[in-house]
Amino acid sequence: MRSLECLSFLERVELCSSFRRKCTLTAGGCWLWHSTVNGRGYPVFWNGHRAVSARRMARFLFCDAPDLSARLFPSCGDARCVSPAHLLALSSVQVGYLARVLRQGGALGAP
Ligand SMILES: [Zn+2]
Repeated sequence: MRSLECLSFLERVELCSSFRRKCTLTAGGCWLWHSTVNGRGYPVFWNGHRAVSARRMARFLFCDAPDLSARLFPSCGDARCVSPAHLLALSSVQVGYLARVLRQGGALGAP
């Protein structure tokens, strides 16, 4: 199996096109995923070899230097959104803080 980093330009363009066909763009800039989701409701994308996180794939395909180790959350609050512009790359500490604040229904501030 080839690594995604080794894709030719045309293979990458084809993958980007395939990815975008699975999204509906909204006036607010969201890319709403209308394809497969996993058992937890997260968007997944078939990259030609296996199913991967559609959020990670969006970062890989459409960002210059994505941090692929970070956890990604849509800043717009729509779990279907895979817009690279709306995906926040968070550390595990930030994820814990965000989850705690959201559970408590509080406002976000500095962690
Ligand atoms: Zn969005």
